[in-house]
Amino acid sequence: IQPVLQIQNLRTSFFTDRGEVPAVDGVNLTVNPGEVLGVVGESGCGKSVTSLSVLKLIPEPPGKIVGGSILFKGEDLVPLKEREMRRIRGNSISMIFQEPMTSLNPLFTVGEQIGEAIRLHRELGRKDARVHTVEMLRKVGIPRPESVLDEYPHQLSGGMRQRVMIAMAISCSPELLIADEPTTALDVTIQAQILDLIRRLNEENGTAVMLITHDLGVVAEMCHRVAVMYAGKVVEEGPVREIFKNPLHPYTQGLIQSVPRMNEQRPRLFSIPGNVPVLHAGMKGCRFADRCPHAMPLCLEQLPELREYGAAHSCRCWLHESQEDAV
Ligand code: SF4
Ligand code: MG
Repeated sequence: IQPVLQIQNLRTSFFTDRGEVPAVDGVNLTVNPGEVLGVVGESGCGKSVTSLSVLKLIPEPPGKIVGGSILFKGEDLVPLKEREMRRIRGNSISMIFQEPMTSLNPLFTVGEQIGEAIRLHRELGRKDARVHTVEMLRKVGIPRPESVLDEYPHQLSGGMRQRVMIAMAISCSPELLIADEPTTALDVTIQAQILDLIRRLNEENGTAVMLITHDLGVVAEMCHRVAVMYAGKVVEEGPVREIFKNPLHPYTQGLIQSVPRMNEQRPRLFSIPGNVPVLHAGMKGCRFADRCPHAMPLCLEQLPELREYGAAHSCRCWLHESQEDAV
């Protein structure tokens, strides 16, 4: 089977006064048909830059895709012109963001915006577009869709706005939905409803999803596979259950420890000490070394490669390579 999305050795950099910042540095990711792939990591680890790269929405300058390919159903998006990307965005690949207010136009009603998005990609008249829009709003659980049509974004609650965003994103039945922290700004109840909506889209329509989040709890609930990113690189990847049961990378282990458990009296306040390093060209060694409780001299010298350790489970860490050598 052909993957819906195959990111190969993607490198996206920002060119700043202090030189090149390799925000995404040789990333490989695959989203298969019908699959929900989680991409997890702290802010600054390169997950949002990865998702923006897929849609070619990196502001250039200062950003630029400097290498690799992004195959959407086998077609490389990297060389495509903006005009060709517009055919794909919102039609074959849709994206929802953390803050819907920034992606909704405050000057137009909900009906006008979704209708416009639909008419852009389908040859529908105004009337049919309106009917289709009502259908979409109903599908994302908006009560009284006919009246919401004539409201402006600021008249809606945060949760409603996110539903409108999702309605817009799915109005053209995309084959891939990229959701970047879709629930981070919402309260817990609404969060659960929005995640449920995304899950139903995946299950009922078979829409493949790339879900970007800093929250491993969300990954556990939503995803089939997960890729853990740190400082512009994938450090561990595998089926969600396997990763939770047997996390190999110290960073993944730290992230899992910081997820509050349902059955615990108080949520644990564990967090990994330190920060994601400031990225620059010519970095050497493991990028997690200054925060890693297991760092060895080798870690500071040489970057470990991403290697497979089990069925579709790969990790980038010297700890496991040396163990393997010892066997
Ligand atoms: Fe820690 Fe070394 Fe593994 Fe990096 S390579 S995560 S520093 S043990
Ligand atoms: Mg982000």
